[in-house]
Amino acid sequence: MNESETPRTSLPPAEPSIFLAAVHEQVERAAKLVDLPSHVHTILSQPKNEIIVNFPVRMDDGTYRLFKGYRIQHNNVLGPYKGGLRFHPDARLDDFKALAMNMTYKCSLMDLPFGGGKGGIKCDPSALSRDELMRLTRRFTHALGTNIGADHDIPAPDVGTGSQTMDWIMDTHVNTIASHDRHGQAGVVTGKTIECGGTVGRDKATGQGLVHCITEWARDKNVRLEGKTALVQGYGKVGSHAALILARLGVSVIGVGDHTGYRLNLEGFNEHRLADYTKKGGLLRDYEGGHPCTRSEFFSAKADILIPAALHNQIGEFEARAMNVSVVVEGANGPTTTEGDAILHERGIDVIPDILANAGGVTVSYYEWVQNRRQEKWDLDEVDTRLEKAMRRAYRRTYELARERKCTMRDAAYALSLQRLAQVYAARGIFP
Ligand code: NAD
Repeated sequence: MNESETPRTSLPPAEPSIFLAAVHEQVERAAKLVDLPSHVHTILSQPKNEIIVNFPVRMDDGTYRLFKGYRIQHNNVLGPYKGGLRFHPDARLDDFKALAMNMTYKCSLMDLPFGGGKGGIKCDPSALSRDELMRLTRRFTHALGTNIGADHDIPAPDVGTGSQTMDWIMDTHVNTIASHDRHGQAGVVTGKTIECGGTVGRDKATGQGLVHCITEWARDKNVRLEGKTALVQGYGKVGSHAALILARLGVSVIGVGDHTGYRLNLEGFNEHRLADYTKKGGLLRDYEGGHPCTRSEFFSAKADILIPAALHNQIGEFEARAMNVSVVVEGANGPTTTEGDAILHERGIDVIPDILANAGGVTVSYYEWVQNRRQEKWDLDEVDTRLEKAMRRAYRRTYELARERKCTMRDAAYALSLQRLAQVYAARGIFP
């Protein structure tokens, strides 16, 4: 057994999750803006279900390790729970709660027929072989059993997982349910490979959605994007696609970072070369291009746009004060702390909040789910056109409310989301 992943009988008291506290504070603020009925606020303050499973996995050397997996189902009043699965060594319950809550608010803001969920496994996927990852994923899926399903809870990729992970989950799930239900269950996960029922356009969807937000922002601010510069923290699925799409608009990425290091290149990186490199597992610490810099130098570099696309709690007081950009576009979930957010606001740096900015991913996941249900295959043009319309509409609604109520885009996004949830609760009432 691996020491770090083996449950102990007495655990040291866990540090409170800054991320979860920030989500609570944010909801509190937005609830006041829309006069949210207090019983709805109370219902939304906790997830409906918190599922934790411990399960053994056989390693390549014949030993067994016990892993801890989570699935948090926050709210399903709008539809089945929906949200990513994260494989990461720092995974923990309270952060998954915050992530699941934000999925409820994101789906509500985007007018999707989904609720919010999130989950994952505490593990370091980079330290596991492909076979170990497959056994880990399949065992976790089996442990979750009927807690997931195409009409109940639909996971998707997040940090440390991808389309291969989703294919394994789908295959395991359909093989462990009654055979007459199998074909209706391809939609148990989204973000699958095209061969296994995934949709075209899902891989770039989150980055594409971010860029739609950036073009809307530029229009409102009368900013010409061509010739502008960006910093991208996290060059994974979200960051790399955002950079590639921005490059087509003439925006050059002059700073990048991942968990191994940061680099600057005032001439602009070659986004395609960098994306190929990181996709093959290359680490930015070892990348040949630009010059290495510290994390502080990255955050204080002068640029027009900053895209945090790594983890939560990355922009705190220090980063917010050091920053030298006009707009922060939150690709990651929860990248800005409450203190960081207040400083950005004070300094007049615009923030396009996560539940809006990175909603392109779940929106195209919805398109995949619809295609699976209807046994259809849409082309890229159809997916892209629908996504663009959905993102621009959500951006406009958020922007207009922020202007009307003289609040931040974050407050407005949560307010719109809470409004929809409150309307549904008002119409349905609370059982019994
Ligand atoms: P990914 O695993 O593909 O990439 C994560 C990137 O973050 C990697 O480059 C990694 O090196 C970097 N990173 C990890 N820890 C870091 C650290 N401590 N400092 C700096 N960099 C670090 O994951 P992804 O799917 O691109 O997700 C990135 C973020 O976007 C997450 O917050 C995720 O929740 C959010 N998000 C993802 C999607 C999606 O469709 N994948 C949708 C919405 C939001």
